[in-house]
Amino acid sequence: MTLSDKTYDVIVIGLGGMGSAAAYHLARRGQRVLGLEKFTPAHDRGSSHGGSRIIRQSYFEDPAYVPLLLRSYELWQELAESTGLEVYRTTGGLFVGPPDSLTVAGSQRAALEWDLPHEILEAADIRRRFPSFDPADGEIALYEANAGFARPEMTVQAHLDLAAREGADLHFGEAVTDWHDSPSGVRVTSGNAVYHADQLVICPGAWAPEVLSDLGIPITIERQVLYWLEPAGGTAAFDDQPIFISENTEGQQIYGFPAIDGPDGGVKVAFFRKGQECTPDTIDRTVHPDEIDAMRDRVTELLPDLSGPAVHTATCMYSNTPDEHFVISRPAHLTNVTVACGFSGHGFKFVPVVGEVLADLATSGTTTHPIALFDPARLVTT
Ligand SMILES: Cc1cc2nc3c(=O)[nH]c(=O)nc-3n(C[C@H](O)[C@H](O)[C@H](O)COP(=O)(O)OP(=O)(O)OC[C@H]3O[C@@H](n4cnc5c(N)ncnc54)[C@H](O)[C@@H]3O)c2cc1C
Repeated sequence: MTLSDKTYDVIVIGLGGMGSAAAYHLARRGQRVLGLEKFTPAHDRGSSHGGSRIIRQSYFEDPAYVPLLLRSYELWQELAESTGLEVYRTTGGLFVGPPDSLTVAGSQRAALEWDLPHEILEAADIRRRFPSFDPADGEIALYEANAGFARPEMTVQAHLDLAAREGADLHFGEAVTDWHDSPSGVRVTSGNAVYHADQLVICPGAWAPEVLSDLGIPITIERQVLYWLEPAGGTAAFDDQPIFISENTEGQQIYGFPAIDGPDGGVKVAFFRKGQECTPDTIDRTVHPDEIDAMRDRVTELLPDLSGPAVHTATCMYSNTPDEHFVISRPAHLTNVTVACGFSGHGFKFVPVVGEVLADLATSGTTTHPIALFDPARLVTT
């Protein structure tokens, strides 16, 4: 065990979605940054893999997220321009369901409250404009032209590359085993060394229950499955589709993407929030035939052509808080620590703005972004 003789302003634990963005925004502000990640860059063991993530602005979860989304979109655009990479694409988004469903009514509420461009489509309009979709009579959709998808692995790698270019030291294959906060700074211990810095930013994803065990934030880890189904008539009809979220009368949501993985790549679809509790150590990484059948049965209610076999599947983890809102905070009983966790299955579209917020919190103790909803005090029972 060595004591690192380099001095750092900020150490970032976890270089997944949020941590890679934080490392970049901190380094860009001239901070001397050390990033510690237990796996490889843009790996598939956590929550930021699988090729695509929905981005949207008419946020049914709560209109309070909208200003953060507007800023996130600006930063997605900056990231695309500064790297020349297609880290995101706007395809339009259809949010389908009964008129009073959370997916439709909640999206409309956010769109109206923030004056976001949108259209309301009847079932017949949806069938006419998007022939692959066959919603039930009586279902409607909010159509948002600004919705689309981001590329998670490409985004994480882009933030890591930019952070390194700005001088950040990024260590992979180095798990943090302990961290300690004091008024004079922080101490972080890994399998390799002990490091000191003024500030610590912790973005542990599904490892939050372990890495943040002392904070008493209730987070449950949930296994999720992604399915790439082969369309009956080939992928061409799905090439230029909007992303979609569809809610049935039981409140069960599914979502999906256009065919972005080539003619043999299938069409990616998934259940939103249908998983088994697990830990990163106990998650079942095998996807079972009955799960694929259940997905196909449900998605063909809306997209009848998605009736073919699964060409690929993957598992991923949600980190759920009880109210499904994030945790982004400088915990009151600590002096030099900022945490970001509990992204509850909907965090990726916020990655760029969360990076900016974490850089604000670590360097100035505060942020002008609206993050009151994410205070862990709402969850911690003492
Ligand atoms: C199937 C699925 C679909 C999703 N779809 C969407 C979507 O469409 N739109 C959307 O906005 N969001 C979506 N999300 C949610 C979004 O992807 C997550 O909220 C986001 O990726 C979480 O990022 P994170 O940085 O918290 O976690 P991660 O990216 O997993 O990063 C945490 C990192 O910390 C590292 N780490 C943990 N412990 C240690 C340690 N002790 N030492 C060093 N490193 C450590 C881990 O290895 C990991 O790299 C989806 C998630 C899943 C799983």
